[in-house]
Amino acid sequence: MVLADLGKRINGAVNNALSNTEDDYTTTVDSMLKGIVTALLESDVNIALVSKVRSNIKSKLLSENNAANRSVSNGQTKKLIQKTVFDELCNLVDCEVKEPFTPKKKKSNVIMFVGLQGSGKTTSCTKLAVYYQKRGFKVGLVCADTFRAGAFDQLKQNAIKARIPFYGSYTETDPVKVVEEGITKFKKEKFEIIIVDTSGRHRQEEELFQEMIQISNVVKPNQTIMVLDASIGQAAEQQSKAFKDSSDFGAIILTKMDGHAKGGGAISAVAATHTPIIFIGTGEHIHDFEKFSPKSFVSKLLGIGDIESLFEQLQTVSNKEDTQATMENIQKGKFTLLDFKKQMQTMMKMGPISNIAQMIPGMSNMMSQVGEEETSQKMKKMVYVFDSMTKEELESDGRMFIEQPSRMVRVARGSGTSVLEVEMILMQQRMMANMAQNIGGAAAGASGQPGGM
Ligand code: GDP
Repeated sequence: MVLADLGKRINGAVNNALSNTEDDYTTTVDSMLKGIVTALLESDVNIALVSKVRSNIKSKLLSENNAANRSVSNGQTKKLIQKTVFDELCNLVDCEVKEPFTPKKKKSNVIMFVGLQGSGKTTSCTKLAVYYQKRGFKVGLVCADTFRAGAFDQLKQNAIKARIPFYGSYTETDPVKVVEEGITKFKKEKFEIIIVDTSGRHRQEEELFQEMIQISNVVKPNQTIMVLDASIGQAAEQQSKAFKDSSDFGAIILTKMDGHAKGGGAISAVAATHTPIIFIGTGEHIHDFEKFSPKSFVSKLLGIGDIESLFEQLQTVSNKEDTQATMENIQKGKFTLLDFKKQMQTMMKMGPISNIAQMIPGMSNMMSQVGEEETSQKMKKMVYVFDSMTKEELESDGRMFIEQPSRMVRVARGSGTSVLEVEMILMQQRMMANMAQNIGGAAAGASGQPGGM
């Protein structure tokens, strides 16, 4: 995933600092900050933002209250450092503006897409259409790109594949006219979400922006979304500002997060335009699309799993009763081995493994080390391990295995795995249970905290 390297390096900086117990607390914080700053800068994050992250972490960790009598070997100190870094990385991708728009049923909600050609606009229009269609909305797509030959064909092909009604023209050259006709048609037919894909290229940039303004005046969109390719590096900031000036978009979709780009430019663009990222594109397939939340993103970045996105995805594919039971458990701050087993089985139907693995603590590291095939084998083995547990064990929080290690030996033997493998699964379940506790706790009014780095 994009930024995977950044995540690894930040983790490295934190873990190195925490394992070096010879240094005093202030020296530890300073050396950790050096590592974090270098990692962020080398990932193309804007220098002003990096400096803000540095000073925020520093002032929090070295405030009189926090720095007094601190020892690095102390568990509380470790937690404080981890949580401060986690929170500050969340702030980096969180512009604090809430998503300005939620579509309403039985109304015509118009969403207009803007962005440069090649950013992934047409693909993301279709992905968003599918996202809402799955949630029970009647959705239509309008192609307003009359500039580029082939634009309508591309949208049409995507729409047909996804079974989304569409509107466009091969002969009309005025995009404003096409959009007017498309929106009128879909509104008459009581479509609830109408997504308008605009052009991303013109002979002159100025013409492109003028056209967007004209379309926007006619469309009067409820939401304008800019699509930004995560791999464009530092140019992202400038490009986003130019779009913001002409189309005043209220949300961003970041695409190509599955690639190996540095991604820091895109993060800087979010801060520069003060606009929230609402979805990320994680592949070329229609379902490679995830709702964005700063906490989930940073959790994945640091390889500590992301239970929130996992359940967002699971809800669309899994058996309703199973998911409901797990959701109820999470709301109570619980996550049993049985929850883990059911969700693991569902996940294996979801594919591709690489997208899912990032959401489970410890799995993304495994993916990067051993590859997709082996990770898939490991996931199968996990199911064998669950199958060798008793009902009582599955419905437990796993603590009985620590109290009676002979249970681990029995399960390992029964599933044809090793005790170490069983222990790993129990550890992952504990991390997810910790996150569930935080989510459940947050629902009850407590503040969220990472499950550990
Ligand atoms: P547009 O010109 O902005 O409409 O861009 P397209 O939707 O045609 O996308 C350009 C290319 O990027 C196509 O090959 C898409 O399949 C690809 N693409 C779009 N989104 C993603 C993504 O999230 N990940 C990857 N890997 N490719 C993407």
